[in-house]
Amino acid sequence: MDLEVWLTDKEMDLRETSDLPPCPEGCNRCIAACPTRSLSEPYTMLPNTCVSFLTTFGGRNLPNEPLSKKFGSCIYGCDICQDVCPMNKGKWQENEDFPGLSELAPMLIPENILAMDEAYYKEKIQPRFFYLSPDELWKWKVNVLCFMRNNYQEEYKPHIIAACENENIKVQEMARSICNEWGEN
Ligand code: SF4
Ligand code: SF4
Repeated sequence: MDLEVWLTDKEMDLRETSDLPPCPEGCNRCIAACPTRSLSEPYTMLPNTCVSFLTTFGGRNLPNEPLSKKFGSCIYGCDICQDVCPMNKGKWQENEDFPGLSELAPMLIPENILAMDEAYYKEKIQPRFFYLSPDELWKWKVNVLCFMRNNYQEEYKPHIIAACENENIKVQEMARSICNEWGEN
């Protein structure tokens, strides 16, 4: 799908029409599956509580964002509602590999995102995951800390503790908020 935008100074009529096919009767899979209750009724959503928003453009203060505990295994984006929708079933055509995925995949495990340096991020990751800007590696790291808290395993502990001294204050804040929950700071 392409999105296109025009700027005009002409008077225009507002037309709100939808040619989307109706949902199957009784279906509410997307509403039931949404982890943050961003969806409540057909064609309606609260964008500012959506995990996709809070892990990319929004969510600038995750240590104080109660919804962050509902992100589950999401680090960047969500799309759970898309995955469960029967209208999408069989529509995705996996005809091409994502360019360079085999090289990138090992770097996208949580521990390696947390250890990633700016140069690698700007060259290899950001051009492919452009919802976060070249200056927002810190946000990836905050999201990873959130993931580690929500999906806690003992091997994450040293990474979380080390992040309390990260050079980025936002990363520090997230790590320290987790340690505070443990009673370690
Ligand atoms: S992307 Fe995730 S959080 Fe956002 S509306 Fe869909 S299921 Fe809810
Ligand atoms: S899961 Fe899909 S078909 Fe079902 S209510 Fe949501 S959008 Fe409609």
